[in-house]
Amino acid sequence: MRVGLGYDAHRLVPGRPLILGGVEIPYHLGLKGHSDADVLSHAIGDALLGAVGAGDLGQHFPDTDPAYQGISSLVLLEKILSLVRERGYQLVNVDATVVAQAPTLKPHIPRMIAALAQVLQIAPQAVNIKATTTERMGFTGRGEGLAAYAVVLVDQAG
Ligand code: MG
Repeated sequence: MRVGLGYDAHRLVPGRPLILGGVEIPYHLGLKGHSDADVLSHAIGDALLGAVGAGDLGQHFPDTDPAYQGISSLVLLEKILSLVRERGYQLVNVDATVVAQAPTLKPHIPRMIAALAQVLQIAPQAVNIKATTTERMGFTGRGEGLAAYAVVLVDQAG
């Protein structure tokens, strides 16, 4: 078995949808980035790549590549899952924390879990998503951006 850790942060800006875990969340700001800037999916993707010793997201999906402009990060997770399987591993579980002063994410977490479990092809019970604020400290606390942390466990397939 192997573990992987992922971290990501994106800036909150006007004029962008807020996508977290593949789910659009009603808010007056969205995350800025080359793809859909889904900070939660990016943290999970990095954790998966880390677990199988396959580098990081930026290496596999460069933000200079027009192919990934505006792309759903769930598509990136699908590609990463294929890579994990090619390397002979299967995903056991995901645990993640989204750091956001606002909006309140709790009501949206069940939808995020459903979307992520579907794309990662594991049971919803194997996907845990948490949300926290930083009590107004730091860039997340000031509402300048959102951050996410994720850990995954993978096991040798078969
Ligand atoms: Mg990112």
